Amino acid sequence: MSRTVIHGGLVVTASDEIHADVLIEGGRIAALAAHGTDAATSWSADRRIDATGTYVLPGGVDAHTHMEMPFGGTYAADTFETGTRAAAWGGTTTIVDFAIQTMGRSLREGLDTWHAKADGRCAVDYGFHMILSDVNESSLKEMDRLVAEGVTSFKLFMAYPGVFYSDDGRILRAMQRASGNGGLVMMHAENGIAIDVLVEQALAEGRTDPRYHGDVRKVALEAEATHRAVQLARVAGAPLYVVHVSADEAVDEIAAARHKGLPVFGETCPQYLFLSTDNLAEPGFEGAKYVCSTPLRPREHQEVLWRGLRNNELQVVSTDHCPFCFSGQKEMGRGDFSKIPNGMPGVEHRMDLLHQAVVDGHLSRRRWVEIACASPARMFGLYPKKGTIAPGADADVVIYDPGAEQTISAETHHMAVDYSAYEGRRVTGQVRTVLSRGVPVIEDRAYVGHAGHGTYLPRGTCQYL
Ligand SMILES: [Zn+2]
Repeated sequence: MSRTVIHGGLVVTASDEIHADVLIEGGRIAALAAHGTDAATSWSADRRIDATGTYVLPGGVDAHTHMEMPFGGTYAADTFETGTRAAAWGGTTTIVDFAIQTMGRSLREGLDTWHAKADGRCAVDYGFHMILSDVNESSLKEMDRLVAEGVTSFKLFMAYPGVFYSDDGRILRAMQRASGNGGLVMMHAENGIAIDVLVEQALAEGRTDPRYHGDVRKVALEAEATHRAVQLARVAGAPLYVVHVSADEAVDEIAAARHKGLPVFGETCPQYLFLSTDNLAEPGFEGAKYVCSTPLRPREHQEVLWRGLRNNELQVVSTDHCPFCFSGQKEMGRGDFSKIPNGMPGVEHRMDLLHQAVVDGHLSRRRWVEIACASPARMFGLYPKKGTIAPGADADVVIYDPGAEQTISAETHHMAVDYSAYEGRRVTGQVRTVLSRGVPVIEDRAYVGHAGHGTYLPRGTCQYL
């Protein structure tokens, strides 16, 4: 069995910061030993990685990505190959992507389609959630089978009427099913019916620029949908995970539910923490780069999101990575913001941006690792295989240089998209080396991985229940 020792670094997990050497054997963490002790120095190894002056972190877990996702007549620009490679560059060693049920078809067919897209192409490990577009007797029964085989979470939409939208009755049925089979319902919580009325009115009045995307998707309509989702989950006796929370009042709804002891969880994304409606209002058609749903909010919301992450009103930061090129894709919405494909690139920069939040004093180091690695792994049934550095865990390890300076740019990023939402932003901290199950994927800032190394991860159920 091949043995690797990582020595001299500060091992940071969600619970500890320890100066320890890490022994990896056959793709898993075999042992930790205090740096400089006889125990640590006696380890023989085929490979030694000097981590002096760096953090040794569990690989990031991005629980919300959309590689090659069809949307509005086009496809998200990253394939599983390019997207997982970019993830690795940024210290993310697990993604959970969304397989989609097509209206009128089975869950199985959707899942098979996504397996075919990902199989043999990923640089790092991956799992799937299932998007439920068509809740009916047979898809409800299929949910049980999917949970049993490791697809344990189901996304429903209160937004996008005519596409992914489910009405309250369908949502309630899916939640009732989940309460019986151990599945976790993930909710896109925006009142899509009301939003569509406002979209129609805005366009009729000639308000067609990207900024109006943010205008019509009101804070009140995110908060209302979040409240409704919580109440439906409560009636069904089911847990609820609200995806991409962007509005302060939606955080309040989740906090209130948690205060009542309900199993309600919240996720936010870097774009809501670092960007705002100021970006949507950038001159020309530049704002289209920042069109995603839920939308970016006025700056004041950011402090509420940071607070929510600190005090565990929000548990997870994912990216909702869903990149569309500015040229040819975002441009489809010139003269009509409702035709701009919804989504932004981000899978590569989540760990770095959240480290910047540590530098800026928004988060502690351990909380950084918790919201980016450990909590998503627990939430989606992957812990402690993923999300921590402990004996028995997969050796998904990031050697992170906390003092390195970098400038984020489309010129240097590895995502297959022609712009960066963070163009020109200086951040402190950078990934140096990444191991996936003990195998180097990034080595001293060079990509040494390959498509097909990443394997499919059947998942357990939510570990917070
Ligand atoms: Zn999404």
